[in-house]
Amino acid sequence: MKSKSFFFFFFFLAAVILAPAFAFAQNSSASPQPVLDVSAMDATVDPCVDFYAYSCGGWMKNNPIPPDQSSWSTYGKLGDENLAQLRGILEDAAKAKAARSPVDQKIGDYYASCMDETAIEKLGTKPLMPELERIARLKSKEGLAEYVSTAQFPPSSFGTGALFSFRSGQDFKDSTQVIAEADQGGLGLPDRDYYFKDDDKSIELRKAYVAHVAKIFELLGDQPADAAAEGATVLRIETALAEGHMTRVDRRDPPKIYHKMTVAELEKLAPGFRWNVYLKKIGLGKLTGLDVTVPEYFRAMNAEIEKESLSDWKTYLRWYAAHNAATDLTAAFVKEQFNFYGKTLRGQQELTPRWKRCTNDVDGDIGEALGQAYVAKYFSPDAKQAALKVVQEIEAAMQSEIQALPWMGADTKEQALTKLHAIANKIGYPGQWRDYSDLKVVRGDQIGNSERASWFEFRRQLGKIGKPVNRDEWGMTPPTVNAYYDPQKNDINFPAGILQPPLFSAKSDAAPNYGNTGATMGHELTHAFDDEGSQFDAQGNLRMWWTEADRKEFEQRAQCVIDQYSGYTIVDDIKINGKLTNGEDLADLGGTLLAYLAWKEDTKSQKLESMEGFTPEQRFFIGYGQSWCANERDENLRLRATVDPHSPDKHRTNGVVSNMPEFRDAFHCKVGQPMVREKVCRVW
Ligand SMILES: [Zn+2]
Repeated sequence: MKSKSFFFFFFFLAAVILAPAFAFAQNSSASPQPVLDVSAMDATVDPCVDFYAYSCGGWMKNNPIPPDQSSWSTYGKLGDENLAQLRGILEDAAKAKAARSPVDQKIGDYYASCMDETAIEKLGTKPLMPELERIARLKSKEGLAEYVSTAQFPPSSFGTGALFSFRSGQDFKDSTQVIAEADQGGLGLPDRDYYFKDDDKSIELRKAYVAHVAKIFELLGDQPADAAAEGATVLRIETALAEGHMTRVDRRDPPKIYHKMTVAELEKLAPGFRWNVYLKKIGLGKLTGLDVTVPEYFRAMNAEIEKESLSDWKTYLRWYAAHNAATDLTAAFVKEQFNFYGKTLRGQQELTPRWKRCTNDVDGDIGEALGQAYVAKYFSPDAKQAALKVVQEIEAAMQSEIQALPWMGADTKEQALTKLHAIANKIGYPGQWRDYSDLKVVRGDQIGNSERASWFEFRRQLGKIGKPVNRDEWGMTPPTVNAYYDPQKNDINFPAGILQPPLFSAKSDAAPNYGNTGATMGHELTHAFDDEGSQFDAQGNLRMWWTEADRKEFEQRAQCVIDQYSGYTIVDDIKINGKLTNGEDLADLGGTLLAYLAWKEDTKSQKLESMEGFTPEQRFFIGYGQSWCANERDENLRLRATVDPHSPDKHRTNGVVSNMPEFRDAFHCKVGQPMVREKVCRVW
């Protein structure tokens, strides 16, 4: 089982942004029911002092983190419910013997093979042996390229392949073209910073990591003393690779990760790696050019290839092979993988039940096959239509906002509106399902299925190079409880998984629905105009369409948000990295305002009444606050402080409302109170 992470997928694209899931607004003439959960609130807290505690205090008390989770939230709960629905689909597909559809055969047998722990246990490390033998047979470092051509996937927990990552993507400067991309990779820890930070906790973590690597070597049959030395070797090599990694903040600036070059230039940059062999092996022997996202990384990788002995490289490759396969292997491997990546890194107390891991695996590996069955059972055309209506209202609000912006000149406004009008709204699922007919799924062959699925995906990615862009393609599977904006396709995407009860209810009160659903739609739309997204034009090309003066005005306003969030503490003495979270913080701020405006416009002819003691405006904001109700383990907060561009839920709530005069008026907050910022930030 691989823990594929969309996180990574989207990180690579650098400007595609993960967003929160959302609830849904629909107008209903018959007695609206509040979706507000009064029991989730804590009425003893003054909303003008801590609006998050006011909205979510009860929820936090009543919803402790389950032992198999590292955090628990309204979205997490919905995700868990979706998993249970998927489980039902998969168990049915696995059971049905006669005349199964091709889709049912694939998802059913994939799931059944993953659930068959007895068979997996019986095989032990045998499935890994051919891979380890190939490593043992390497005669020189020249052979690295050929070996690595089959070893860069599946992505590890944090998504980087052995040595580096290789895939395809739209050309930043010509969004109609798909090109090859080579990117930094090769690390087992979640980020370059983990290798260099010298505070006590980071030092402890590195020790735990080396112990984990050693344990994996022991499970492969090595003696403890050898395994310990091998662990140290892996850390040394990865640290050298990490030196070449670009930071996450720098990666948010698209020009910094765009370096097109010829294959000959890449060969000159990293001559110690036989690129011609590698490219030929992956079927790209005729490739002439590609984007080398971080040239510095390949320089560092090259130096490290030269520096280390063949024997130490074999150690690194053995680690990677076992690391990538660990969750497909026996209980001992799964447990060790969990101990470090689940428990130590995220604070998760118990291993996630196998059915959840296997369901996630099917979703991660053949998600559009499972998604077809899911959509047929759980997503209605009505839901799709209703979602589209709100999205269009939010877009109309954005249009009015742009037209009225006091700080933007007419030329830039015209470009901004062109971009806004070009945004495609994708709701629910793709128009055309991915064809998995070339992927063989064999019942009882867990690791084989997993490998073949990875190969299928790798080939599919590379197969796009040189072909027209498929704008219908999705970057998330239909059951996903999340949403995203893709700046290169210039589209916003809302999978069916978030348009589900209880968040999606035809009978619900519009105010809190716009506060959460609408705010999320506004969030995605605002990404088109955040620090990253705003550098891409209507066609998805990296092109500065702003006048210099207007760009300066934008950056000043974005800086206000960076300064604001940089002042918030996440856990211990760790502060938010306001530059890392800027795009998300801008999207939260802009998105909530857009939702508010869209709601006001939608209900302007209605007489809105108070309900359960709250005015409509108050219900809007409580709806927003309650979309973020969550509990999170400290370990997970620390991890996210380094890798996640989203601010913690508390600050996503308080950071936004304290910038909005509409909030101050709704709750009659006074100047000087914590939820009324002296210096209000506003961009869009
Ligand atoms: Zn986002």
